Amino acid sequence: DAERWAVQVESLSRSFRGQPALSDVTLQVPRGAVFGLVGLNGAGKTTLIRHLVGALRALQGRVRVLGQDPTLSPERLLRRVGYMAEDEALPTWMLIEDLLCWCRSVYPDWSDDYAAELCDLFELSPRSRLRSLSRGGRARASLLAAIGHRPALLILDEPSSGLDPLARADILEAIIRTTADEGRTVIFSSHLLDEIDRVCDQIALIHQGRVLETIDADSLPQRYEERCYRANLPTPEVPP
Ligand code: ATP
Repeated sequence: DAERWAVQVESLSRSFRGQPALSDVTLQVPRGAVFGLVGLNGAGKTTLIRHLVGALRALQGRVRVLGQDPTLSPERLLRRVGYMAEDEALPTWMLIEDLLCWCRSVYPDWSDDYAAELCDLFELSPRSRLRSLSRGGRARASLLAAIGHRPALLILDEPSSGLDPLARADILEAIIRTTADEGRTVIFSSHLLDEIDRVCDQIALIHQGRVLETIDADSLPQRYEERCYRANLPTPEVPP
């Protein structure tokens, strides 16, 4: 099974101060899929992702990432997983070079050509300091740091959050180009259906901590406005 699924989540529940954030979530992400987590603010996407990267331990239910419990050996897992968090910015004193250095320490086939290719792709210069970049530039830098070591699994939590339309288009472009890599599994969370539609091939609709359904991208109607999406949500089951 670990061969087939990059991520397996079984009956995962999580509450914060008595308020359920995830309720009985079961989800399987096939290896090689570009898998979207779609849901409005507060749906539980980040809480689910924090379980996948080992930042939260599964108290109820079970989580396997690339065949292992992500909390058992987070350092080892992080070599195989790239993670772009929504709300944790990289320290602004860092240079792009510093990010490359980290990737280099993890990726065995590193070369100067490859580093130059990465910088070109993300339109970043090695000597730039994060502080000096626009918000879009910093988002591209975070993506570079998440993908530069060529992880088997890439997890992007609302990567375009807070960006203007141009910067959003840029980061999406970079994501689409880098996710075309053979064999890589990508998990992409967003509340914007047009992004999900462009990037993903399978989608889990998440609402109030529950997975309502998992669908193929083909059945996601094109360019729904968010309000329309909200109106078209199936009614969530009432928890017992
Ligand atoms: P967003 O688009 O706003 O990031 P999300 O789908 O990622 O939303 P989560 O951040 O997972 O949603 O939040 C789900 C629910 O859990 C929310 O009601 C949130 O307030 C709550 N929650 C998440 N983390 C914590 C925490 N550490 N302590 C208390 N409540 C939390």
